[in-house]
Amino acid sequence: MKALTWQSRGNITCETVSDPKIEDGRDAIIKVTACAICGSDLHLRNGLMPTMECGDVLGHETMGEVVDVGRDNSKLKIGDRIVVPFTIGCGDCRQCKWGNWSCCERTNPNGRKQAETFGYPLSGLFGFSHITGGFAGGQAEYMRVPYADVGPIIVPEGLDDEQVLFLSDIFPTGYQAAEYCDITPEAEKTIAVFGCGPVGLMAIKSCFLLGAKRVIAIDTVPERLALARSSGAETIDFANENIQNTLVRMTHGLGPDAVIEAVGMEAHGADTSVQKVSSAILSTVTTMERPFALNQAILACRPAGIVSMPGVYAGPVSPVMVGILMNKGLTLRTGQTNVQKYLRPLMDRIQKGEIDPSFIISHRSTNLEDGPDLYKKFNDKTDNCTKVVFKPHG
Ligand code: NAD
Ligand code: ZN
Ligand code: ZN
Repeated sequence: MKALTWQSRGNITCETVSDPKIEDGRDAIIKVTACAICGSDLHLRNGLMPTMECGDVLGHETMGEVVDVGRDNSKLKIGDRIVVPFTIGCGDCRQCKWGNWSCCERTNPNGRKQAETFGYPLSGLFGFSHITGGFAGGQAEYMRVPYADVGPIIVPEGLDDEQVLFLSDIFPTGYQAAEYCDITPEAEKTIAVFGCGPVGLMAIKSCFLLGAKRVIAIDTVPERLALARSSGAETIDFANENIQNTLVRMTHGLGPDAVIEAVGMEAHGADTSVQKVSSAILSTVTTMERPFALNQAILACRPAGIVSMPGVYAGPVSPVMVGILMNKGLTLRTGQTNVQKYLRPLMDRIQKGEIDPSFIISHRSTNLEDGPDLYKKFNDKTDNCTKVVFKPHG
């Protein structure tokens, strides 16, 4: 089959690799009907995530049709259409039972190795380096789904792939990020969202679904800011305005009640020219993580507020403004998303017509050979690229 593979830093190729097979009785094999590129894939592409190996199959936003099922899997049958969460959960361990699916204690076969760095093992993730299990991803014609009797959700009749694909990751990710801000209609909260990529846009929509009064979104890419505005947010273009001064002015000195950092470790410096130049240099010559947006978010949040951080980081990052976080009494909430927890409620919201996440898609392809080019466009934010979806079987 064809699949998009990681070769080396900055080098993604479409290769012919062997078809996946059932390896465990709980597995399923899907024919991938739709898959997408995530901002996290860019961190892998750009060499910021350690333990990638040449030939690794990428992709963790995937759905498809079940074409084979293991003998112990009584949940799925051939022909079912399923969306696959990017976090692999066993369903039986303490963490899965608590709903902390991304901290599953059992699904990462390299968990012991991971514990050397993280203290404990975390869940396996599709197409996301060897420290998270080395599972082949779903930017491919077929994918093996381990623990397929637990994670995936069967798609109800009447919904097309584009409406439900993002349940695999970014819709639950944006929603969890918003939920972490303790939004209720009565609280009349103002939320600042840093980054108007797919995750930021899903976070904006989710803030409003939960009852936020105001959302102020920050980015500099015009088409992304436009999508943020059409989602109901007020926007700040960080190339033209000082983020902190503008946020303080817009909130009459009070500051946002919570901030969502939906940028992650490849942030661009936004405020001073030194930041702007150093982030531009760092992004081209090194694989160092850049916490510019995180620091901006910590600064922006009102005292005793919440910093919700879906943005992904890989290892130690410095300098992070821990002193400001501490002295302001901020609460930091973060993590890979507990996707399984949100599948049913968010599928219901899609079915009721409360949201159609497909509004962010800008590029579609039926040919995985287009992968390297579309990765570049999504990475460089050119050609108005806001989200890429492949339909590898047409
Ligand atoms: P993306 O790269 O498409 O979007 C990031 C956006 O941030 C871009 O539009 C960029 O212009 C903007 N940006 C850069 N520097 C900024 C700054 N200083 N201030 C404000 N905006 C800035 O990526 P995405 O797909 O939207 O993902 C965003 C982050 O979420 C990534 O780090 C990704 O790895 C992470 N993510 C986390 C989870 C999770 O489970 N926690 C899941 C999916 C994605
Ligand atoms: Zn992702
Ligand atoms: Zn588990």
